Amino acid sequence: MAEKLFLEVVTPQKAIVSEEAEIVVAPGSEGEFGALKGHTTFLTSLKTGPMRYKDATGKERVLFINGGFCEVLPDKVTVLAESAERRADIDVARAMEAKERAEQRIAQKQADIDLVRAEASLRRALYRLKIAETK
Ligand code: ATP
Repeated sequence: MAEKLFLEVVTPQKAIVSEEAEIVVAPGSEGEFGALKGHTTFLTSLKTGPMRYKDATGKERVLFINGGFCEVLPDKVTVLAESAERRADIDVARAMEAKERAEQRIAQKQADIDLVRAEASLRRALYRLKIAETK
């Protein structure tokens, strides 16, 4: 196994990940990027989407990340996300309800509906459902 870095994923509510990882792949606002130990230092904002890493046992882990920031240092990756869940913690029924709610709002096309907000909500729900399906 390659050399490991330390990965931390935190949200305003709680710490989601705090463990060694071999490779981290995250949804950067300029595109998906991968970080291995020894990577050049950089800071980027994140889009909503999936994040992956290999844990110390070599098992691939998948998380949902709802935007935020990521700092990559040669031996540490820190993600500050607006919200995030490990794949196994995604509540599929809740995401289905959020998806239906957002779709209804978008379909109504009323002046008092904030379309951008409804679309962002739909995007979160769809990613959560997609990530929950992955093995
Ligand atoms: P909802 O409309 O169901 O609240 P949301 O996309 O508006 O969804 P967020 O603002 O992203 O929710 O997150 C609020 C909190 O709820 C966070 O702690 C987040 O991890 C959690 N959360 C939201 N949806 C889910 C889900 N489907 N499964 C597990 N946790 C969730």
